[in-house]
Amino acid sequence: MPERENGHSFPVVIISPDGEIFRDEAVSIVVPAVDGYLGVLKGHVPMITVLDVGEMLIRTPDEHILSLAVAGGFMEVRRDETVVLCDHAEFREDIDVIRASKAEERARERLTGRMQDINVERAQVALKKSVNREKVAQRKERKKLIE
Ligand code: ATP
Repeated sequence: MPERENGHSFPVVIISPDGEIFRDEAVSIVVPAVDGYLGVLKGHVPMITVLDVGEMLIRTPDEHILSLAVAGGFMEVRRDETVVLCDHAEFREDIDVIRASKAEERARERLTGRMQDINVERAQVALKKSVNREKVAQRKERKKLIE
């Protein structure tokens, strides 16, 4: 059970292949669902949604906004907690921009070069993920969930 709770918050758990990377109360979250960004507040009806590549935002009870680069996965809004299960997720502060830009360069070379045996779909996914990591890392700190 999360340690902190207030009247408007609800428990959020984020799990990536690296394990549980977040478990705390949130006042609201925004996730990149496949059909557009989706916001969740306390009391949201239970649902499951598929996630795309994008930025996830968490408003904390002490009015901070946490930002993560996420790629794929699911979010399950339950009555007791909201679980976000990501194919990958990194907090903005942990993103290695140089690594992401190298990954972008590799993906672009694969997509535009004349290399044989290229898995185009894989290169497209790598490009989308790396560009998203760069965008999330370089975005200025947010004061609001929607700007
Ligand atoms: P790369 O080609 O640079 O390895 P990738 O998209 O193939 O990138 P993933 O398979 O999505 O990498 O992730 C492997 C692990 O590395 C995960 O733990 C992921 O969070 C982490 N990771 C990947 N890229 C970055 C980055 N730019 N900054 C911080 N962590 C990263």
